[in-house]
Amino acid sequence: QKAEWAKLVNEQTVSSDGVHVELAANIGTPNDLEGVTNNGAEAVGLYRTEFLYMGRDQLPTEDEQFESYKAVLEGMKGKPVVVRTLDIGGDKELPYLDLPKEMNPFLGFRAIRLCLEEKDIFRTQLRALLRASSYGNLKIMFPMIATLNEFRAAKSLLEEEKANLVSEGVKVADKIELGIMVEIPSTAVLADQFAKEVDFFSIGTNDLIQYTMAADRMNERVSYLYQPYNPSILRLVKMVIDAAHKEGKWAGMCGEMAGDETAIPLLLGLGLDEFSMSATSILKARSQILNLSKAEMEELAAKALQMSTTEEVMEAVKAAAKLS
Ligand code: PEP
Ligand code: MG
Repeated sequence: QKAEWAKLVNEQTVSSDGVHVELAANIGTPNDLEGVTNNGAEAVGLYRTEFLYMGRDQLPTEDEQFESYKAVLEGMKGKPVVVRTLDIGGDKELPYLDLPKEMNPFLGFRAIRLCLEEKDIFRTQLRALLRASSYGNLKIMFPMIATLNEFRAAKSLLEEEKANLVSEGVKVADKIELGIMVEIPSTAVLADQFAKEVDFFSIGTNDLIQYTMAADRMNERVSYLYQPYNPSILRLVKMVIDAAHKEGKWAGMCGEMAGDETAIPLLLGLGLDEFSMSATSILKARSQILNLSKAEMEELAAKALQMSTTEEVMEAVKAAAKLS
């Protein structure tokens, strides 16, 4: 099987009835690029930049960050690279920031919330990204967006730094797509409004499931509630995809669900445009999609949206998509 998949490295990902979707890779450092290329990713769909900040005793400088972003953009040779701005907090701590302990870190001062408060940290990252933007096809994505005002505030800081760099004579790419992670239910519910202002969505199911089901993604006692196939999750995913398409934007997914063989038929049917997963899952996913009819998966997805339990959905997918 592995040998069969290997033949697909340079192939496009097209359903049996001719619909193209993009298979992208999630990465944490420029060192992951080799796996991205070897596994035939069409893009980097999520570059988690927090690893640049972790395992050290002070913040990375603008130049250090610039070098990492540039390395990834150049390594991808013009293919899209979605870089997510700092998503610290929750399960990822930065001891040197000396932040107070919180009762509920996953509901607390993290990611964009921290960046909009600690503006110097955020501005430094945005400058590094903008400077790197002329070396490839950069798209910038903000994590943990809960309100439109957060997105607008982050966007205006980006625009300020862009203007600063331009006035300093630094080359910055003309068009940089600006998107958000959809991983908080409020944002999924209001996706039609967000879609008017963002260039793309990437659905972060790892967090979206935990927040929708109110089940800590790290807590085994409640892991039975962590249900990617719960129809409530599927309906949120559909709302996000439909909202994007209505405004002519694209919708991807970069949570673990995007690389799961039981989820892929449903996501194809729901109209997802980009699937971002660990590089080692890409060839298997491509081989699966080549054998799926999008029209049939649309029927499956429509039925799943009307079901009432996870179990029902999983049974239906297994039958329709010929999984064991
Ligand atoms: C997610 O929440 O789905 C996601 C991709 O982000 P992370 O796993 O880094 O929280
Ligand atoms: Mg997340």
